[in-house]
Amino acid sequence: MALHLRGTVLPHGTTRDLWILGDRITFDRPSAGTETVADGGFLLPGLVDVHTHPGSRSQEEARWDPEAFAEQIAAHRDAGTTALRFPGLLGEIPDELREAPDTPRMITAGRWLAWAGLSKSADFHTVTDDLVAAAVAEAGAHDGWCKLMGDWDFEADPVPYELLRAVTDAVHAAGGRVAAHCQSGQGVLNAARAGVDSIEHGMGMPEECVQMLAAHGAAYVPTLTAFARSASRIIDNPRGRLWHEGHRIMVRRVREAHDAGVTVLAGTDCAPFGDIATEVEHLIAAGLPADVAVGAASWAARDFLRLPGLVEGGLADVTVYDADPRLEPAVLRHPRRIVLRGRVVR
Ligand SMILES: [Zn+2]
Repeated sequence: MALHLRGTVLPHGTTRDLWILGDRITFDRPSAGTETVADGGFLLPGLVDVHTHPGSRSQEEARWDPEAFAEQIAAHRDAGTTALRFPGLLGEIPDELREAPDTPRMITAGRWLAWAGLSKSADFHTVTDDLVAAAVAEAGAHDGWCKLMGDWDFEADPVPYELLRAVTDAVHAAGGRVAAHCQSGQGVLNAARAGVDSIEHGMGMPEECVQMLAAHGAAYVPTLTAFARSASRIIDNPRGRLWHEGHRIMVRRVREAHDAGVTVLAGTDCAPFGDIATEVEHLIAAGLPADVAVGAASWAARDFLRLPGLVEGGLADVTVYDADPRLEPAVLRHPRRIVLRGRVVR
């Protein structure tokens, strides 16, 4: 039996009927029997978190735990998040979980790859002296993405431009995409010039990077929620002041990037899982128009991840809200109906 939903379909805003046949959306009424699962409200192609790292009980002591991973992606799903990108995971997702009908769609990128030439790295990084080969291998072994540390300590030298350029060219030649963690001005500049596909965080992003990202069609994923939380803990000393200056700049660049035509996307980075609505609110506070901020956590993110949304033949993920999230973003915390992979999960 086909599922039937009627409501205001976003982002276009027309009120219409849609049906779900298997894992596909259609706007043509099927001849077989139908069951109405939503009548009225606002329909989104689900929420998307493009920067989350489930799989560990503790952020301080990161250790891969498939049970924690399952619980944390269930929290994302119950919040109406139907697609996730993981720019760095501690382990490999068990096949049975990956293919389970009630799990969000998942885009993996392998481990966090850190170049051995960086002065510091974290325990959870995979350190390599052949960043090009490692990046191509990770993208090939996962969902076309790899994750690089463009820098780590924001006061130390980042990965040199020439190396990032070689990595990006090699991954692109193999059909993959590159997500780069950057939290220093020079780190962002090197990654933006090198043509990476997404800048993660972007603390201290120099102004000229905005045009570079626009020219390369790269996305900007500021993960404002995580940085806003850290801001209250960073102490007032010379290093802390440098951190705060980088943070102020990254917040300012969100609106500037959007104005320049860069796709800004929503990612939470840290626990709690299933709280992309808070990131949408931070994006709005940073100056993004509310409809763009909602899209950053839904249709724009799906486009970027190549997951078709509420279009003919699109993938059968739909969330339904009582109010228009473009006018009342807080309603994103209260999905009335969640359809995932063609099945009602709420
Ligand atoms: Zn992260």
